[in-house]
Amino acid sequence: MELNDPTTSIVGVGEKLALILRRLGIVSVQDVLLNFPRAYNDYSQVVKISELEPGSVTIRAKVESVTGRYARRGLHITEAVLVDDTDKVKAVWFNQPYLAKTLPKGTELFFSGKFDLAHSTLSLQNPVWEKVSEFTSSTARIVPIYRETKDISSRQIRKVIQACLPAITSLKDILPNKYKGINRGQAIRQLHFPDSQKSLRQAQEYLGYEELFILITANQLARIEYDSFVAPEITFDEVLTKKFIANLPFKLTDAQRAVTWQIIQDIQNKRPSNRLVQGDVGSGKTIVATIAALQVANTKIQTAIIAPTEILARQHAESISKMLKPFNVEVALLIGGAKNKFKQTTLDAISDGVAQIVIGTHALLEPGVEFKSLGLVIIDEQHRFGVKQREKLQQKSDKFPHLLSLSATPIPRSLALTVYGDLDVSVINELPKGRKTIKTQIIRQAARDKVYAQIDEQIQEGRQVYVICPLVEESDKLGLKSVTTEYERLQKSVFKKRKIGLLHGRLKPLEKEAIMTDFAKGKLDILICTTVVEVGVDVPNATIILIEGAERFGLAQLHQLRGRVGRGEYQSYCYLAPSSDQFIGKRLRAVASTHDGFKLAELDLELRGPGALYGLRQHGQLDLRFAELGNTKLIAEVQTAVHKFLDSDDPSLYPELMKRIMSARSVTQLN
Ligand code: ADP
Ligand code: MG
Repeated sequence: MELNDPTTSIVGVGEKLALILRRLGIVSVQDVLLNFPRAYNDYSQVVKISELEPGSVTIRAKVESVTGRYARRGLHITEAVLVDDTDKVKAVWFNQPYLAKTLPKGTELFFSGKFDLAHSTLSLQNPVWEKVSEFTSSTARIVPIYRETKDISSRQIRKVIQACLPAITSLKDILPNKYKGINRGQAIRQLHFPDSQKSLRQAQEYLGYEELFILITANQLARIEYDSFVAPEITFDEVLTKKFIANLPFKLTDAQRAVTWQIIQDIQNKRPSNRLVQGDVGSGKTIVATIAALQVANTKIQTAIIAPTEILARQHAESISKMLKPFNVEVALLIGGAKNKFKQTTLDAISDGVAQIVIGTHALLEPGVEFKSLGLVIIDEQHRFGVKQREKLQQKSDKFPHLLSLSATPIPRSLALTVYGDLDVSVINELPKGRKTIKTQIIRQAARDKVYAQIDEQIQEGRQVYVICPLVEESDKLGLKSVTTEYERLQKSVFKKRKIGLLHGRLKPLEKEAIMTDFAKGKLDILICTTVVEVGVDVPNATIILIEGAERFGLAQLHQLRGRVGRGEYQSYCYLAPSSDQFIGKRLRAVASTHDGFKLAELDLELRGPGALYGLRQHGQLDLRFAELGNTKLIAEVQTAVHKFLDSDDPSLYPELMKRIMSARSVTQLN
C-alpha cells in the first residue's frame, strides 16, 4: 500500500464510501492517516461484570440472549443479557433493530459504553461491540473520535484507518533530527490508536514540536530574505514634527512619544521595517501613525493606510486631513464601488504621486491601484486582515515599503515570537490623561427598564448611545435580537421622542456614511447597529453602549465594542445584555471585571485558540493544532533547535520540511 493510493484501494472501501470520504477531503491513503482524531474516549480499562461501576466502561463478555421490540412508533429497543465468569448485565440499544440478528452469540466480545441508570436499573447503554482480538479499534482501548457526518461514523473511520496502518511507516519525517527518539509515523500511529495516555501525550507533543519547528524555521528564513530587500530611507524632520505636535489640541502621552520615536527610527533605515503597534482601544494609535505618514509625505513618498471598514476609512480620512491641514499634505480616500469619474481622478492622483497619503479599504488592494512611490504601508486593526491581503498591498511598490500595523488586540508574547517571528512590537501602554474607566455591567432581563431609564437620562444631558445587536434580520430560531426589529421596537415604544439611527452592513455605502456622519455630528441620539462599529469608530460624545446578545461575541470583540465609549471627558457605561440570563457566565464576567485588553485577549486565546483570534486558519496552511502557544519553555527549546539547525545544516536538503515551510511562509512571510 502506497501513501498516494486512492481510498478505493483500501480493504473495505468501495465507491460509495470513497465518495463519502471525499466529502471529508480524504482521497488518498495519506489523507486517511492525516485525518486526526478530535477527541478520545478512554475505554482502556476492561473490568469484570461483578466490578462494574457507573461511568465509561469496557467488559469482555458473551451474549446470552438478545431480543428486539418496538417500544412505540419510531423507537426500537434491543436488549441483551451479557455474561462473563463473574456475573450478568443488561445492555440496551436504541434504534438499531438489526442488532438482534447480527450480535454473535457464544463469541467473546468487548462492549464499551456508558454503564448508567435507566428506568431505575443499571445497564450498559448503546455500547459499541467488537470481537475480542489483538487489535481492537472501537473498544477496550483509548478510542479515537473523528469528525463525523451523517453518512459516516467514527467507528467506520476507525476501520478505514486501521486498514491503512501498514502504510504509516512510509510517512516521511519533517523534522531534520529525531525528537525524543520517535519518528513521525510512530507519533501519528499513537495519535490514532494510543497504547496509553502517556504515549498519546508524547505523540501530541511531537506534533506540536513539529508545527513550531516549521513555523519558526519559516520565520527565520523569511527574516534572512527580508534583510536583502531595500526600503526608502525617510529623513526625519524634527522641526516639522515639533510643529505638528504643538498644533494638537492635547499633549501626547509618554507612550505615544516613545512609540512615535521608534517608528521614526525604523523608517529612516533602508532595511524594510516591520513593526506592530499594540495599544488598547482609545490609546491614540492614529496620531502616532499620522506623524509617520507626515515624515514620508515630506520626503515626497507615498503612504497607504488601509482600514477594515469603510466607516473607519472615511473617519481616518477626515481626521487625518484635518490634522495635516496646516502642512499641505494631499490626502485621498479610496473605497470600493463602481469606477466613475471621481474615482478615476483619485486613481490618477495616486499613480501621479499627487495623493501623498492614500486611505482606503480593501479597494486599495485592487489591481487597478498603482502608486508612484509607495514607502509606507499602515494597516489599521491589523488582526482583521488576512496575510495575503497585506502581501498584495506591499507588492505595489518597486522598493519594499516599510510596514506598520496597528492593533488593539494584543498578541501574547508567545504568539508574537512564533507566528510573527520577525516582527518588532511596540506597546502604547497608557491611555490619554483624564479618561475615566468605563463602568461595565451585566444586565439581567429584569433590569432592562432601569437601563433604558438611564439611557434616557444621558440623552437628556446631551450624550449619545450605541445599541449593538448581533443580527441584521430577526432569527426566531436563535432568539437573537436583530437591528431592524430592535430599531422599530425602541423607536415605537421605548424612546419615542428620541432620534434613532439604524446602521448595518447591508446598507449602501452612501447611506452608511450619512448615518455615521449624523451620529458623529450629534444629530442622532441613539445608533442601533451591528458590529460595523466594532473597530475604531470615534465619537467622543457617546457615553453608553448597550450590547444585546452579548454572549455571541468574543471577548476581544466585546472589549473593542466597549471602546466605542469612554473616548471623551464624560463618565461612560457599557451594558452587556445576554439574550437570556442563563448565558451570564465566566466570559461576560471577565469583560465586566477587566478593563485590560491584554488580559482579555489572553483569556480569549485560551478559550478560542489562536486560529479564531488572529485569522490564522483562513486557508488551513497554518493549523496550530498541537502546539500550545502558552508553552514558552517548549517554544524556547524549538527556537534553540532551529538556530542550531540553520547554523550547521542546509534546509533545502530536507524536502518534506521545505514543502511545509513554503506553505507556512505563504501565511507568515511578510509579517
Ligand atoms: P485608537 O488607539 O483606539 O485607534 P484613536 O487614535 O482613535 O485611538 O484615539 C482615540 C481618541 O483619543 C481620539 O479622539 C484622539 O483624538 C484622542 N487622543 C489621542 N491621543 C490623545 C492624547 N494624547 N490626549 C488626549 N486625547 C487623545
Ligand atoms: Mg484606531
